[in-house]
Amino acid sequence: NVELSSINKTFGAVETIPNLTLSIPHGSFTVLVGPSGCGKSTLLRMVAGLESPTKGSIAIGNRDVTHEEPSKRGISMVFQSYALFPHMTVEQNIDFGLRLAKVPQAEREARVAAAAEVLHLKPLLKRKPAALSGGQRQRVAIGRSIVRNPEVFLFDEPLSNLDAALRTQMRVELADLHKRLNATMIYVTHDQVEAMTLADQIVVMNAGRIEQVGSPMELYDTPNTLFVATFIGSPR
Ligand code: ATP
Ligand code: MG
Repeated sequence: NVELSSINKTFGAVETIPNLTLSIPHGSFTVLVGPSGCGKSTLLRMVAGLESPTKGSIAIGNRDVTHEEPSKRGISMVFQSYALFPHMTVEQNIDFGLRLAKVPQAEREARVAAAAEVLHLKPLLKRKPAALSGGQRQRVAIGRSIVRNPEVFLFDEPLSNLDAALRTQMRVELADLHKRLNATMIYVTHDQVEAMTLADQIVVMNAGRIEQVGSPMELYDTPNTLFVATFIGSPR
């Protein structure tokens, strides 16, 4: 599980997140939704260790990681703009982080092969990114995360650059991936359908605060506020 306790994040004089406490169950698919600027990416970046909270603490499993380096946290983040190395093949792109981390050759090959299997990338391993579709590139980006065996995957609007058909396909693949890996996923999206279909738990944020946390059905059937009802699209 991931525990955020009394987190405050202040940029200059602006309190982006005043005081946020959130528990993310181990193995859950937790989706963060909320209007632009409400602090979703900031929250993910704090879990990743790319930003430090101004106050409060973050734990992953039973470890307090508040002051731990990103590379030691056992997390992996997939961004909206998934920059692949254009001069490397798919295989080399997926392997890159493992090579940097000096993982032994045999282990690297096994992990890349396993990721390629899960993500249906086997036939594409020798191609360069320029010869891939958007959805295929996105799968390569996810492959780079998977090979590092993270406990927690962080996704920041990973599908927003894809067209509707590819988004639908990737949604199915992400759900499948979550089932197979049994890892904790924290997923930011603007897409209601994505949130409703992928999430075990949805966190609705508004201006750095949590409006409501619950399963898709709970939020849909019993929204606590008009904001949540409007955001989730509950009938009123
Ligand atoms: P979007 O849906 O548009 O991606 P978001 O919910 O991800 O929005 P954040 O990127 O977390 O929003 O930003 C939350 C607020 O914090 C915004 O008002 C943003 O301008 C501010 N902010 C984020 N990073 C910084 C920074 N490095 N310095 C100053 N302000 C920042
Ligand atoms: Mg964002």
